[in-house]
Amino acid sequence: MRLEAIKEGSYLYCKSAQRRGVHKVRVIEIVDYEINPDQWEEAVRYEYTYRGEYIDGIQHPDQFSLTKTFRKPDCHKCKLEIDEQKDIVEQCPKCEWLICPRDKACGCNR
Ligand SMILES: [Zn+2]
Ligand SMILES: [Zn+2]
Repeated sequence: MRLEAIKEGSYLYCKSAQRRGVHKVRVIEIVDYEINPDQWEEAVRYEYTYRGEYIDGIQHPDQFSLTKTFRKPDCHKCKLEIDEQKDIVEQCPKCEWLICPRDKACGCNR
């Protein structure tokens, strides 16, 4: 996901959370992460509980998505692709479709 689409306190899926696999995590905050002494990048600090154990970590924004797998559906209205990883997209709370960032189309206004 793009960093601008990641909000603190929201729940997202993290692709490469510890203990492998995808986990539903809560975004704590956006932090500056040191890749090496001259290079800093914005990263996402998150937390989740796994079998009763509290776990937190830091990942690149690319590793987060609204759903368990990155979705790339075609919009039913404009027919263009909605790329969850590249576009700033929201999921409709009613129909759970990705809302088209161009015309706001989702399953409700089909
Ligand atoms: Zn559209
Ligand atoms: Zn909808």
